[in-house]
Amino acid sequence: MSGTEVRIGVLGGGQLGRMLALAGTPLGARFGFLDPSEEACAAATGPVRRVPWSDLDAVRAWAREFDVVTYEFENVPPETLAAAAAVVEVAPGHGVLGLACDRLTEKEAFTAIGLEVPPYVAVAEAAELPAALAAIGRPAMLKARRGGYDGKGQAVIGADVDDAAAAAALAGIGRPCLLEQRVPFEAEMSIAVARARDGRTEAWPVSRNVHVGGMLAETRGGPAAAHPALAPETVAAATDGVRRLAESLDYVGVLAVEFFLAGGRLLANEMAARVHNSFHWTMDFAATGQFENHVRAVAGWPLGATDAPRPAAMLNLVGEVPAVADVPADGRHRLHRYGKSSRAGRKVGHLNLVADDVAELEARIAALRGRLRGPLVPPGSA
Ligand code: AMP
Repeated sequence: MSGTEVRIGVLGGGQLGRMLALAGTPLGARFGFLDPSEEACAAATGPVRRVPWSDLDAVRAWAREFDVVTYEFENVPPETLAAAAAVVEVAPGHGVLGLACDRLTEKEAFTAIGLEVPPYVAVAEAAELPAALAAIGRPAMLKARRGGYDGKGQAVIGADVDDAAAAAALAGIGRPCLLEQRVPFEAEMSIAVARARDGRTEAWPVSRNVHVGGMLAETRGGPAAAHPALAPETVAAATDGVRRLAESLDYVGVLAVEFFLAGGRLLANEMAARVHNSFHWTMDFAATGQFENHVRAVAGWPLGATDAPRPAAMLNLVGEVPAVADVPADGRHRLHRYGKSSRAGRKVGHLNLVADDVAELEARIAALRGRLRGPLVPPGSA
């Protein structure tokens, strides 16, 4: 597959697929997507086969048209992925998604390679809750093992929540859960590593994230991600952990892990077996962006350098997308519109920014908040 043109099939046709194609097309990759949705916004960058995930004959027929298949959507059903893997190579590898979509196996994978995690206990039914709460303490969080994302399928068990109310919260989620200590974190961080077929890796500098209502609102990248409680050795050790995780999974592509910075330690929260929202800033302001390196990895091409010397940021645009004319065209603001229809709470684009120093970056962000009051999620507005 080291030829000049590589055909890459992407399961999922959302914005991540669209941005993979936007990054890989100039290198000579050609893209096609499979997505049941009428609205798949990757359609602007390659043909979308609109079939249900469960139509395995159609999935196989589609997959045969490519040299390699990857995915941009974490909830692709395992049987769909297996159908594609039966006829063509799937990268990052079809076992990874099964592991990452269950919070228990995910945490076990973290601890197996030496990444620290917040204390947790698995709870399948109400009878197990009192012992779990005694072990973990309050405040805690109940999280569905499977199927939760962007803060969905979760409940906070506050210091004043009794066992009966905790049982009601578990019943409300209605699925096996993990009870996890609610960590009083100083910041949320993420680390992304790209791993090539030959095992070489490249890691971007850490990202620092702000979530609002469980959804990523904004990220600081490069020197702007610095935090007084975060030592460079701690970042280096966690980055090595993510590299080891990628190795242990024989992973090919971009792998991201979200962490809590708590008491100066980085505790792994969850992994994304794909390109990740908190590294969107790299597409404009790192030597090589995450989308390009994912394409390079799955296509069997050498990875690009990942250094990012300037302070950068990414602001998610939620619900509505600003007009092009409303964003300064000075090369320091990069607007990415996903071509999705406006809908409350929906990520419809993002804005990447860069500056010469962190104070200038923060001043630019503050100016944008005044100008783009609708689509930017103000911090603390949960
Ligand atoms: P998750 O779906 O695990 O990414 O959780 C969504 C958001 O809830 C995270 O980004 C945190 O802001 C918060 N959260 C999740 N788990 C914990 C925890 N153990 N302690 C404190 N906050 C948490």
